[in-house]
Amino acid sequence: MSGILAILEHRNEQGDAKLHKIALEALAAAQQFGEELNLPVFAAVVGKDAGGSLEGYQLDKVHVIEHALLKDYTPDGYTLALKQLIERHQPAYVILPHTYQVRDFAPKLAASLGRVLVSDGIAHRIDNGELVVVRQLFQGKINADVRFEGPSPHFLSIQAGAFRAENLKPGTAPVETFTPDLAPAQVRTKPLELFRESARAVDLTAADIIVSVGRGIKDADNIAIVQKLADALGAELAASRPICDNGWLPMERQVGSSGQTVAPKLYIAIGISGAIQHLVGMKGSKTIVAINKDPEAPIFEVADYGIVGDLFQVVPAIVEAL
Ligand SMILES: Cc1cc2nc3c(=O)[nH]c(=O)nc-3n(C[C@H](O)[C@H](O)[C@H](O)COP(=O)(O)OP(=O)(O)OC[C@H]3O[C@@H](n4cnc5c(N)ncnc54)[C@H](O)[C@@H]3O)c2cc1C
Repeated sequence: MSGILAILEHRNEQGDAKLHKIALEALAAAQQFGEELNLPVFAAVVGKDAGGSLEGYQLDKVHVIEHALLKDYTPDGYTLALKQLIERHQPAYVILPHTYQVRDFAPKLAASLGRVLVSDGIAHRIDNGELVVVRQLFQGKINADVRFEGPSPHFLSIQAGAFRAENLKPGTAPVETFTPDLAPAQVRTKPLELFRESARAVDLTAADIIVSVGRGIKDADNIAIVQKLADALGAELAASRPICDNGWLPMERQVGSSGQTVAPKLYIAIGISGAIQHLVGMKGSKTIVAINKDPEAPIFEVADYGIVGDLFQVVPAIVEAL
């Protein structure tokens, strides 16, 4: 194969296999790398139901990995199966979405082939025909360029929002089934029921527009002011950590290093200073608008549009204009 292999996670909901949103972003990254490095691009999914969801993309082949022991996710099962596929096809690069599942098995998979995993890549460039990856250190304080050394395959996981699924190239992809050699004794864990978040849980990563509120709002009762803006824009409401710590909004709406990483088309930060722990969770957004009364607030460093002003005047005025 000697190309790029994207290993894609999906959720199987009532027999309907749905690719994870970040998996589509990882696929977009793989397609882009393929174009820039002039390499063919392949995808792999585990489970027979998932192949169909990939047929509509421009890919050289989709490998559908099937085995009775892979019905439920286990790190042993996935590692052994993917290792066999990789050994057979020898890709130059293996690209994965940086999901919780990938964090669980991908270091083990890379190590089982004597390689390392470069995790959570946020950007790339091509240097002398080689992929150079940018990843963050120290909670996003430093961006480091990482170069792969030694023999391929090189393993890379992609941060949510670093690449955009809307850049995916449509096309056709032949689907091929791969049946790995697996014995029950090799799978040492027994999966129980999947953890499900409560029905009310919001998926901020799926929102196109996010209106996010910080400590500048001063009081829980004032949240209604930004809620009106979110409603007028059809946006999800999110917050910085102090807002969630105070219980003014639920934890699931927190953006940042200890909350969610989001990359909507539009992120409006209201009364948020722009601490590094907040920025790492939202700086991949396509367009950032900041409203803050302090012209020196660090949020303006990442903002595409900045409004220096009192949110209690600015936000109602925008709502009225909308
Ligand atoms: C380990 C660790 C993990 C963390 N994880 C996260 C995380 O996931 N997410 C997160 O957000 N933070 C996180 N933090 C906290 C982070 O360091 C900041 O303390 C936090 O982001 C600050 O929130 P804020 O911007 O809402 O508040 P502040 O920093 O207090 O900023 C409030 C802003 O509102 C502006 N303002 C005030 N009044 C008005 C007004 N009337 N009109 C307009 N603007 C106004 C002020 O100028 C100021 O810039 C973490 C910290 C640590 C140590």
